Amino acid sequence: MATKKLYYEDSHLTSFEAQVLSCTQTQKGFEILLDATAFYPEGGGQAADTGTLGDASVLETRERGEEIIHLCDRPLEPGSRVTGQIDWEARFIRMQQHSGEHIVSGILHRRYGCSNTGFHMGKDRTVIDFDAVIPAQVLPEIEAEANRAVWQNLAVKCWYPTPEELPQVPYRSKKALPWPVRIVEIPGFDCCACCGTHVKSTGEIGIIKLFTAVPFRGGTRIEMACGIPALAYLNRVLEQSIRAGHVFSVPAEGIGEAAEAFGEQLAAQKYRVVELQRQLFAAVAKEYEGTGNVLRFEPNLDSTALRELADAVAQRCGGRAALFSGQDGQGYGYCLVSPGEDLRQFGKEMTAALHGRGGGKPNFQQGRVNATRQEIEAFFK
Ligand SMILES: [Zn+2]
Repeated sequence: MATKKLYYEDSHLTSFEAQVLSCTQTQKGFEILLDATAFYPEGGGQAADTGTLGDASVLETRERGEEIIHLCDRPLEPGSRVTGQIDWEARFIRMQQHSGEHIVSGILHRRYGCSNTGFHMGKDRTVIDFDAVIPAQVLPEIEAEANRAVWQNLAVKCWYPTPEELPQVPYRSKKALPWPVRIVEIPGFDCCACCGTHVKSTGEIGIIKLFTAVPFRGGTRIEMACGIPALAYLNRVLEQSIRAGHVFSVPAEGIGEAAEAFGEQLAAQKYRVVELQRQLFAAVAKEYEGTGNVLRFEPNLDSTALRELADAVAQRCGGRAALFSGQDGQGYGYCLVSPGEDLRQFGKEMTAALHGRGGGKPNFQQGRVNATRQEIEAFFK
């Protein structure tokens, strides 16, 4: 027996009374069949409703032929009457996303003649794929137009044209659909064949926010959110912006500029640090003029700086410069430089003795050892 689809009579029906027709135990739970339901089954990109039937939780709702199956966590007595309650906020969010998606798809269809080739409604975001190239620069314009549809608070019309009327209806998605075809119309913005549930008037969508448009399979993938999740997302972003604004001592709207200026300052300072380091290394190297082999420890130099200092010292000392940076317990990075000497054999012996590894070129060796300063000094004696 066909289940009466109350969600098509009233998409805002949250609670209803129905008769239990059957209850079948399966591996996943109890499949309950009612004479009527407000639970929307999964379909057309819109997820299934959850909620309760009496004391039972409805875990999943799906369509099987003309029947709608409610998968519940406990059995219900066939013949009894039961009160159904759908998880309204989750359903309302899905309606906001779905109706908003229709408005955006309708606008893009009119502007680019494109069709919607994929539609996925996530928890926070909706992803729509279109078979046309839609440049990301037009998103603000599309978004503004879509939100004008929201502000106009247009009544959403869901109807079933007769076989005679249908060919005259200018709806999107002209692929052959099983009869009867349900049309969802948002006057002036969209007309589409759709089996989902929708808001009664576009004002309920609240806000339509488009996030990104990226090339996808020769077309474009657009990410967007409407209503409750859109506001929640914007609030999360605002909170981050305010926090970043405190760091830069600017209002949230100023953080882009402040961050760019900060980036430039940082780059200039890095350049300055490199310059000062070069001068410092030259001064340090000068102290080793003609001293022969050098062993030197540095508390905290990265491998690039360690090599620069080792090079500078080796140019002056006239022997082998062995530089180590690190601390006992954590090991030491090392750099060996000797312009006139093949260090490969020495490097191997050193890493073997000091539990390390490394390599390089004949007169330059770099790596790490797991040894203490004392052990390193003992090896070099
Ligand atoms: Zn739809």
